Amino acid sequence: MKKIYLDHNATTPVLPEVVEFVKPFFSDFFGNPSSIHWAGRDVRVHYDNAREHVASMVNAKPEEIVFTGCGSESDNHAIKGVAFSRKSRGNHIITTAIEHPAVLNTCRYLETVGYRVTYLPVDQDGQIEPDDVRKAIEKETILISVMYANNETGNLLPIREIGAIAREHDVIFHSDMVQALGKIAIDVDSLNVDLASFAGHKVYAPKGVGVLYIRQGLDIENLIHGGHQEGGRRAGTENVIGAIAFGKANEIISHHMDEENKRIDGLRQKLLEGILERIDHVKFNGHRTHRLPNTLNLSFEFVEAESLLIALDLKGIAVSSGSACSSGSGEPSHVLRAMDIPVETCLGTIRLSLGRSNTEEDLDYTLSVLPEIVARLRAMSPLYRKK
Ligand SMILES: *Cc1c(COP(=O)(O)O)cnc(C)c1O
Repeated sequence: MKKIYLDHNATTPVLPEVVEFVKPFFSDFFGNPSSIHWAGRDVRVHYDNAREHVASMVNAKPEEIVFTGCGSESDNHAIKGVAFSRKSRGNHIITTAIEHPAVLNTCRYLETVGYRVTYLPVDQDGQIEPDDVRKAIEKETILISVMYANNETGNLLPIREIGAIAREHDVIFHSDMVQALGKIAIDVDSLNVDLASFAGHKVYAPKGVGVLYIRQGLDIENLIHGGHQEGGRRAGTENVIGAIAFGKANEIISHHMDEENKRIDGLRQKLLEGILERIDHVKFNGHRTHRLPNTLNLSFEFVEAESLLIALDLKGIAVSSGSACSSGSGEPSHVLRAMDIPVETCLGTIRLSLGRSNTEEDLDYTLSVLPEIVARLRAMSPLYRKK
């Protein structure tokens, strides 16, 4: 059977060149990078290179890059780190209703220990008004956390403007940039962020490695206390293989990034147009232009997303219903609900997220099987038959 992967926002396959590159670190290069002897030194050189590759990908200095255990850890470190270190200055945090659970649930936890959180609403396109951020700022506001790219809709949020507002009010600004990395150019300076989260497995590196960018001079509380690794900001013997893979993947992606993303954008357009031509009662969710090149979020009315996902899976096509994080829960996506999309429509929504491995043929095949599947599922829907 054909296997077509259209779920790159959930995770990505590790690039073959990256797999090759890290192989020696399972054998000959086994040292602890903190060791002073030859075994440690050899590894340290490669580990430091990896940090430089990640830094240059986002226009940061290598000292501003902290390797973590995952994107979720980076979000936790940023938000709790600011909350705990700024407690004497205030207890108010501003975020949005459409953040990843790693941000939302961290904020909800902080609410249980005395912090107050404002969850800003979004409009029907899933966009947020920078001015709403300004209006939400109070004397006690210590942190604003707004994601760059939404994992479900692919929307890009106006973080440059929000960052400028944060700076104006002397409030620290964190952005979850996990979905933006590799898909659009990132410059932490021009985007006015103080903290930014990244994850290896969304950019063709392995799972279990993340990065937190911490602007030079900013001192926040640690999440993991212990040894002196990562400049004393994240304890624990380094995930050498993960970090080196992350660096290598960034180095490879940074070549021809614009061309590759243009290609993927073209594929996404073709897929969208193909679906809209062949199938009626399909709704496009998200902003038309402020968006990632690879993500499509579509509601198929009178269809249950889980059934659609399973039918596509039987044809070898991997997509996701809602976000991978909430699928299986049966709950409508919090992102779509925040956009005021009716619950029934949410429950018929799938996300198709493209990536480097996808070709025109993948889309032709998808377009050849999708209309029949949707028609079959709709034939079973009493609501559709009445129409
Ligand atoms: C995947 C993802 C995360 C979490 O990253 P993990 O490495 O899986 O913990 C956080 N934020 C966004 C936007 C994501 O897409």
